[in-house]
Amino acid sequence: MVETTAKRDIRKLKLDELKAFFVEHGEKAFRAQQVYEWLWNKSAKDFDQMTNLSIGLRDMLKTHFTINHIKVDHMQRSADGTIKNAVTLFDGMVVESVLIPTEKRITACVSSQVGCSLACKFCATARLKRQRNLSPDEIYDQVVAIKEQAELFFNRPLTNIVFMGMGEPLLNYANVMTAIEKITAQKGLNMASKRITVSTVGIAKMIQKMADDGVKFNLAVSLHAALDKTRSSIMPINDTNPLDELGESLRYWYAKTKRKVTYEYVVWRGINDSEEHARALLKFCKIIPSKVNLIEYNPIDDGEFQQASEDSLNMYMDLLERNGITTRIRKSRGKDIDAACGQLANKT
Ligand code: SAH
Repeated sequence: MVETTAKRDIRKLKLDELKAFFVEHGEKAFRAQQVYEWLWNKSAKDFDQMTNLSIGLRDMLKTHFTINHIKVDHMQRSADGTIKNAVTLFDGMVVESVLIPTEKRITACVSSQVGCSLACKFCATARLKRQRNLSPDEIYDQVVAIKEQAELFFNRPLTNIVFMGMGEPLLNYANVMTAIEKITAQKGLNMASKRITVSTVGIAKMIQKMADDGVKFNLAVSLHAALDKTRSSIMPINDTNPLDELGESLRYWYAKTKRKVTYEYVVWRGINDSEEHARALLKFCKIIPSKVNLIEYNPIDDGEFQQASEDSLNMYMDLLERNGITTRIRKSRGKDIDAACGQLANKT
């Protein structure tokens, strides 16, 4: 018989919709709950894993639905233990996700879009045109895959999740929020919201929306410069979304959520390594309670951008710390396999 309707991705259905489906097909509604648990709690990759359903019922599901699970096609391990996954999606597109082990934590760094539309000049992902948003289940599956790797290779649980892979999470807001709901749900991965960090280029109106939505996860903003002229020259988003608007949205964020923000900041030679820039950052840091991660630059090209000297980093560090802003220098992880910040570009 020729099938007239295309199969649907079963994870696009909400629990209620799945219940309605079962009832329509003469089955008990509680089956939906069972299937939902297989999908979101036990991360089933195909219907035959659902052993508490009869074979007939599994076959019926197969005629209507697919499970568009991601495939980790290629895994690379860095000398420092970092693992980079090339993840193939159901339509053949590829994104990357990274497992970052430290003494205390195992962090999953996940992608939210295929490519990126933001065009930050120092970032390798920016060179891949944005192709599409990831669905909630594609984001969720990256976390599950890394959780499994943490258990398999390190015999430790996954402790943290950062949305610092490819793409801009706040330009795929609804799907990122749904993924986080599943990750934090008791009948999902049951991870605490405070272990999750969403990193953004700093889209003011979306930061306000998150505040209105009462989110419970951490916010990181990729700042890199606190003077408009410099920020606009390296991050085009700053032309339409300047620092005063960003600052206003952060004020709003803090008023509503009482949550600190972390600024990610790379110091580059000749671009933002002067005291004037450090003072501008300090001023920006006073808008709301904040801390700063000075990230090591991961070269991606011909040398337009170069890591600033240790002296410049120390100058930043001293100024910020002296003024009560917690500041950490973050060394790169996984650089040898192009897994570090800003290096994700589907090279493998
Ligand atoms: N679009 C989001 C999520 C990406 S996170 C955001 O901008 O926050 C990736 C982080 O790595 C960002 O802080 C980004 O600014 C930083 N980054 C990009 N290219 C880099 C590079 N070559 N070296 C170091 N950090 C880089």
